[in-house]
Amino acid sequence: MGSRQVSDWQGRNVTVAGLGVSGISAARALAGLGAKVTVVDGGSGEAHAARAAEMAQLGIAVRLGDAETLPAGTDLVVTSPGWKPSSPLFAAAAAAGVDVVGDVEIAWRLRGPEAAPWLAITGTNGKTTTTRMLASILTAAGLRTAAIGNIGTPIVDVVLGDEQYDVLAVELSSYQLHWAPSLRAHSAAVLNLAPDHLDWHGSMAAYAADKGRIYEGNTVACVYNVADPATEELVRAADVEEGCRAVGFTLGTPAPSQLGIVEGLLVDRAFVVDRQKQAQELAEVADVNPPAPHNIANALAAAALARAFGVEPAAVRDGLRAFRPDPHRIEHVADVAGVAYIDDSKATNTHAAEASLAAYEPIVWIAGGLAKGATFDELVTASAKRLRGVVLIGADRALIREALARHAPEVPVVDLERTDTGAMSAAVREAASLARPGDTVLLAPACASMDMFTNYNKRGEAFAEAVRALADEHA
Ligand code: ADP
Repeated sequence: MGSRQVSDWQGRNVTVAGLGVSGISAARALAGLGAKVTVVDGGSGEAHAARAAEMAQLGIAVRLGDAETLPAGTDLVVTSPGWKPSSPLFAAAAAAGVDVVGDVEIAWRLRGPEAAPWLAITGTNGKTTTTRMLASILTAAGLRTAAIGNIGTPIVDVVLGDEQYDVLAVELSSYQLHWAPSLRAHSAAVLNLAPDHLDWHGSMAAYAADKGRIYEGNTVACVYNVADPATEELVRAADVEEGCRAVGFTLGTPAPSQLGIVEGLLVDRAFVVDRQKQAQELAEVADVNPPAPHNIANALAAAALARAFGVEPAAVRDGLRAFRPDPHRIEHVADVAGVAYIDDSKATNTHAAEASLAAYEPIVWIAGGLAKGATFDELVTASAKRLRGVVLIGADRALIREALARHAPEVPVVDLERTDTGAMSAAVREAASLARPGDTVLLAPACASMDMFTNYNKRGEAFAEAVRALADEHA
C-alpha cells in the first residue's frame, strides 16, 4: 500500500453509515489507513452489540440506536447501498458541508497508481450475469481478473488486497453509482433501463442519471443497447475522454460500430480495422449459456467490453463456453413428461420476467409474490400470445389476475390462494396439468419473494424440489 494513501487518510474523521458487510469492510480499511472511524447504525439488538464489540477491538467506534445525527467533527460520510439519499444523516452532512460517498468511491480513491483498470456494468437486469460472463472471457484471455462490485468480495477489500489484477469486471448498482462521483472506468456498459427502485431514486430521470454516471470519463468505449434508446441517450449525455467511442450491441445485424448477430453468429463490427467493410466472428449463439435472447444480449455486451480491452475473438468464444450461470436464472431443472421446467426465480421485476417469457413458447407461467408497486399490463400484453396457462401465487396475485383478465381473457388461470410452505408444490402440480408435451413451465414471478419465502433462492429451491418430486413420480 503506497504512502500516498496513508497520508491521505491519517487522522481524518470518517463516519460510516451502517454495520452491514460493505460498511464494515470500508470501516476496517479506513481505520487501517489511520482514519478515526465511527460507524453509526439505528439498530441496538444483541447482534449489533456483538459486532460493535468486534469493531472496538480494531479501534473503530460504533454508535448504536441513532442513525440520523452527524457525529461532531465528521470530515467525510461513507454510505451503504441500502440507505436512501433522503436519509437524515445525509441531510445533516449536506448542511454541514461534508461529502457523502459510497464504498465504490472509497475503493476508487484507494487504488494505487498502477491499479488494474475497471470494465464496469450496470442496467436494470442482467448485471451479475454479464459481469460474470465478462470475467470468464477475460480469464480465457489469460488475464488476471475478478468479478466484483455488487458481487463477490467487497470491492474495498479487493482493491487493498495483496492479489494483483490486470483488469477488473465491476458490477455497479444505481445506488453505488449515485455515490461514486470520481469513478472513471476504462469502458462501461448500460444493459437496459426500466423503472425499478424508484422509491430510492425519487424519479425515473434521477434513476437514469445515476446509471449514466458509469460512462463519465470512459477512455475507450461506452457500450449501449441499440434496442433501448435510453441507454444511447446516456452515452450522448456523458463527458468522456477524447477518442472514446460509442459501441452498440443488438440482436439484429450490426451496423458499423456495433456488435450483433448474423446467421447464428456473434459478430463484431466495432473493434475491427475497417468497420465499414469488415465483420469479425466471435462465437456461435449456441456458445451462450443459456441461449435465450436477453442472455445473448448480455453476452454481446460482455464481448464488447472485452474487445474494448483488446481481447482476441477466440477468448470471447472460450469464455462464453466456459461460463456457467448462477442458480435461479433461467435454470433448466428437469424435463417431465415432455415438458421443460425452468427456474427463473431471479426474475423479481416485470422487465426481467418479460425477457424470460420472450424466450419460450408455449409457456405455462408461474407468477406472483410482492409487486413492489409494479403494474402488469405491459408484461401481460407482450406475453399473452405465448401463454398456455398461468398459475398465480403470493400476496399481490390479484394484480396479475386483473391484468390477465384485461389483456388475455382466453388464457386459463389458476389462482392459488395458499401461501403456506406447500404452495409451490401445489403450483407446480397445477402447472403440470395445464402443460402439454413440448411446453415449458416457467417460474418467472415478476415479483419479490418475501411474502412467502426468505428470498428468491429459497423460492427457486422450492420450485426445483417440487419439480423433482414430480419427476420421481413419472420415473
Ligand atoms: P441483476 O444482477 O441485474 O439483477 P442477473 O444477471 O442476476 O441481473 O439477472 C436477473 C434476472 O434478470 C434474470 O433471472 C433474468 O430473468 C433477467 N435478465 C437477465 N438479463 C436480462 C436482460 N439483458 N434483459 C432483461 N432481463 C434480463
